[in-house]
Amino acid sequence: MRYQAREVDIDGRVRLVMESALTARDRVGVQDFVLLENYNSEAAFIENLRRRFRENLIYTYIGSVLVSVNPYKELEIYSKQQMERYRGVSFYEISPHIYALSDNTYRAMRTERKDQCILISGESGAGKTEASKKILLYYAVTCPTNDHMAALGDRLLQSNPVLEAFGNAKTLRNDNSSRFGKYMDVQFDFRGAPVGGHILNYLLEKSRVVHQNHGERNFHIFYQLLDGGDDDLLNTLDLERNPHSYHYLVKGNCPRVSSISDKNNWKAVMKALPVIGFSEEEVQQLLNIVASVLHLGNTQFGEGEEGETYITTETQITNLAKLLGVDGSALGEALTHKKLTAKGEEMISPLSFEQAVSARDALAKAVYGRTFTWLVEKINRSLARKDSSVIGLLDIYGFEVLQHNSFEQFCINYCNEKLQQLFIELTLRSEQEEYEAEGITWETVQYFDNKIICDLIEEKHKGIISILNEECLRPGETCDLSFLEKLEDTLGGHPHFVTHKLANGKTRRAMSREEFRLLHYAGEVNYNVNGTVHCNLTLDQLVMCQSDNQILSHCFRREEVIDQKRPEMAATQFKNSLMKLMEILMSKEPSYVRCIKPNDTKQPGRFDEVLVRHQVKYLGLMENLRVRRAGFAYRRRFEAFLQRYKPLCPETWPNWHGRLIDGVSTLVNHLGYVPEEYKLGRSKIFIRFPKTLFNTEDALEA
Ligand code: ATP
Ligand code: MG
Repeated sequence: MRYQAREVDIDGRVRLVMESALTARDRVGVQDFVLLENYNSEAAFIENLRRRFRENLIYTYIGSVLVSVNPYKELEIYSKQQMERYRGVSFYEISPHIYALSDNTYRAMRTERKDQCILISGESGAGKTEASKKILLYYAVTCPTNDHMAALGDRLLQSNPVLEAFGNAKTLRNDNSSRFGKYMDVQFDFRGAPVGGHILNYLLEKSRVVHQNHGERNFHIFYQLLDGGDDDLLNTLDLERNPHSYHYLVKGNCPRVSSISDKNNWKAVMKALPVIGFSEEEVQQLLNIVASVLHLGNTQFGEGEEGETYITTETQITNLAKLLGVDGSALGEALTHKKLTAKGEEMISPLSFEQAVSARDALAKAVYGRTFTWLVEKINRSLARKDSSVIGLLDIYGFEVLQHNSFEQFCINYCNEKLQQLFIELTLRSEQEEYEAEGITWETVQYFDNKIICDLIEEKHKGIISILNEECLRPGETCDLSFLEKLEDTLGGHPHFVTHKLANGKTRRAMSREEFRLLHYAGEVNYNVNGTVHCNLTLDQLVMCQSDNQILSHCFRREEVIDQKRPEMAATQFKNSLMKLMEILMSKEPSYVRCIKPNDTKQPGRFDEVLVRHQVKYLGLMENLRVRRAGFAYRRRFEAFLQRYKPLCPETWPNWHGRLIDGVSTLVNHLGYVPEEYKLGRSKIFIRFPKTLFNTEDALEA
């Protein structure tokens, strides 16, 4: 006879019933994957997800990991009453929920006095940001507060619309895709009230400022401003309402998104900015910058008879300079000339037409990117910092494979590679620690270690980032390709690195000459090296650091320009910030939310098995389940176990008065457990097979 677990929402307890008696009941699968009979079967895993998804049960556990499937519709499970249901209730007593995880994390922080973090992962559109917002809301609503803290909770929540306006965009995969990574600390005082916060941002996708693929948009803020700003404002900024007037907004040919109201979101942003501490003047300066990016995009160049480049949109440059708070002729020169240092002497030399275009785009990206970073700093200042316990929330881009993958995707996937490494390491570690604490022998588990890929990327001297840095130090005309050659020379033959060159000297036809391929743990990705090595030093920094706009003069520091120290290369910067992130995460007790996207069409009710299987694979969920099931399927604290099953044994019913461990021992002896089926630790019983537990449940039912 086989058994299935089902959820009973009335008393909130899991009950397990016989399959034969079931049919209708087994619709909903098991609420914890560790209870799957055949835990090695991917098919069984996916079937369980599908059943639950069909019943709108979007949450399932793997032990303490929460798996979440995006429902693409509003479910009635996030109300205040629901929050109350989950408060102070143990994980396993009630159906899986993001609130259960939030609450458990909170209580662990309070009782164990250890900082926590919640790592949310999954591909674009899987529901990471929604999950992080639900967690934040849970704390804002359920934690103790007073007036000061209420204001702080408000600021925490209000930072979201602002960050999303500047950092999110419509992509093919998600109408509100976060184009930056975010780690946020929520700080709690000794009473458990949220009193502060701190945000770290990672790698904004700056290329989007100047280019969007078909069907995608630039960052929301541009459309919000054009749609929502009043006439006076647009006049001051010298802007027209129609997005089609701006080169930087027309590339994707998609100015409107049906699921988004730019006007309403504009209002929300304008309301939020003062709440998070923006003065009127700062708001104006911020909007000047947003407008100036659009004007930069409309700056056009012509080619003179002697090949020199000049600006054809002179009047517009004057307005642009005014918005940027810089000198017009200096800006004009910066966009058409570069500074060279040859034999110790500085020279100004003209840019070619193409170089001028790319200098303009580079300036637009730098202005926007640095303003974004400034915005995050500004928000941080408003979320007053205090020494306290912390719950960190990580909402970071998932593994990404696009048609065309560049340096940005490389960084994103490298980040995922690191997080996977951390995940496996920490899951194994915590399992081992639990066994140790309980005095039970640990049995070794086989798992795929992706260290080899992390090393390939980050190793000193011979990793990809090192090689890239070397190339950046002495850039030439064909710098991208010579970077690729260096990679081939150093890494050719590495099991996770491939280029078009075959070992026998022939060419692999499926790959272009500008690409290299990495075999990531989650799959293969071809990266194009075009534009990876930035060669030109332009003059724009010099001009920008003299800006009257205080945000810009803060973003472009004079010291940075005058100080001739070698600037940190983008890749190294990213690597270092990742290392810091890993340190932060390692110092905390982690919980995980693994988000899954059920289909590519953003539709409710559609479960695309191929798509889901792929995600199950690269989120490492089967691996995770195997680690979790390595020895024992199920574990419970003695008191919980005894409480539930004591009616099954005359000696433990109605109450057991001796030591808990003896009570459990008496109980399982009475039930006829054989030694291979279970072990008693110091505070918990470990049961090896789900069947044992199901039999016991069955007895309870009878
Ligand atoms: P990206 O990596 O692109 O930022 P993401 O994982 O952050 O993606 P979200 O923006 O959180 O994805 O979710 C995409 C959309 O899916 C949301 O805008 C919302 O419409 C829907 N969605 C996600 N989670 C839920 C949920 N729990 N309930 C209802 N709808 C949801
Ligand atoms: Mg997101």
